Amino acid sequence: MKIRFYNGKILKGTSLEMVKGELHTDGSKITYIGEVPKAGESFDREIDLEGDVIMPGFKNAHTHTAMTFARSLADNYALDDWLHKAIFPIEGKLTEDNIFWFTKLGYLEYLRSGITACFDMYFKPEGVVRAVKETGFRHVFCGSVNDFGGIDVLEEEYEKYNDVDPLISYRLGFHAEYTTSQDIMRRISDIAHKYEAPVFAHISETKAENEGCRQRYNMTPAKLFDSLGLYDFGGGGFHCVWFSDEDRKIYKEKGLYAVFNACSNLKLASGIAPVPAFIKDGINIAIGTDGAGSNNSLNMFREMYLDTVLSNVVNEDPLAVKPETILSAAVTGGARCMGLDECDCLEVGKTADIIRIDMKDPNMQPDNNFRRNLVYSGDPGNVKMTMINGNILYEDGKYLTYDAQEVYRVTNEMMGELIG
Ligand SMILES: [Zn+2]
Repeated sequence: MKIRFYNGKILKGTSLEMVKGELHTDGSKITYIGEVPKAGESFDREIDLEGDVIMPGFKNAHTHTAMTFARSLADNYALDDWLHKAIFPIEGKLTEDNIFWFTKLGYLEYLRSGITACFDMYFKPEGVVRAVKETGFRHVFCGSVNDFGGIDVLEEEYEKYNDVDPLISYRLGFHAEYTTSQDIMRRISDIAHKYEAPVFAHISETKAENEGCRQRYNMTPAKLFDSLGLYDFGGGGFHCVWFSDEDRKIYKEKGLYAVFNACSNLKLASGIAPVPAFIKDGINIAIGTDGAGSNNSLNMFREMYLDTVLSNVVNEDPLAVKPETILSAAVTGGARCMGLDECDCLEVGKTADIIRIDMKDPNMQPDNNFRRNLVYSGDPGNVKMTMINGNILYEDGKYLTYDAQEVYRVTNEMMGELIG
């Protein structure tokens, strides 16, 4: 399928520079970006952008997609109680079919808020593979090993899900220090060395987590993971709220990714990540929503907004974090964190993971500064189209590959069974 977008603006390259003109796709790839039409080209579809902006999709660099089941189900717990009293008992009952449907619910929300890929830590991956094949969404698995399971299949999953579908890939990962024994972490490190692969995990999400780790190992989680060789081939951590100067030094030296999850950290009262310190140190950063149980929204606009304004208020500096830096983290940083370098920006030869922002919405006007409008006043309602791998999956409020109403009906029925 060859598609021509014309009469619009394009947020081009990793610098997200705004250029006027048109963009063409052929199959999964971007084949042309220029000011004027290309002579003699014919297309399957030509889309008049009417002055709208097209840009790379957001990359949700940390989530638990199928946890849509937990939205507004058990709010106002701190992390430890939330996990043990509210979440684990229901997770024990989830079937592959539950994962399939609740993942599809998550994808609906991703598509309408301009998210074109997710870095997803959960379990029963076969349910997710079915969801990807039906919907066309781009999914990067993160290993979810902990003391309750996963280590014996980690290597098998790594090989299998890096070779199952062009829209699916898999990175090594484990839940967190406080749920994973040192013996299992060593086994993960061995696998990382065998494949020369990066490793990811939740890290320093709460103060209590760091204190527990100090009691057990006399060091911070970042120091512990590094000492076990888990970071020898890159990777990174989700949350990174309670990071010391020394932890950041490890992240800088090893080229690791810090993935921030502001909404979840606020709701669970975990704290506020020192985003400006990471930026100042030149550490790779990305942004994620975390799961719908702890957020409760899967909305990258809200994350970007909070990552800027929270840093401002904490540092008593209204430009502690530039919105342009956060936008870049939400797009390019996320892609590279997830190993999706081919989707990190709009350039000829890159993969066509593209969203269209409606410039006819009042919150995007006047067009004084597009990128600041997007971060400070943008919302999912501004997303007019979401394309993944050259296929339009969402356009003008409609989902083109599957039936949203059916997803709502089935997931609500499933909730009745899971809670009952
Ligand atoms: Zn998480």
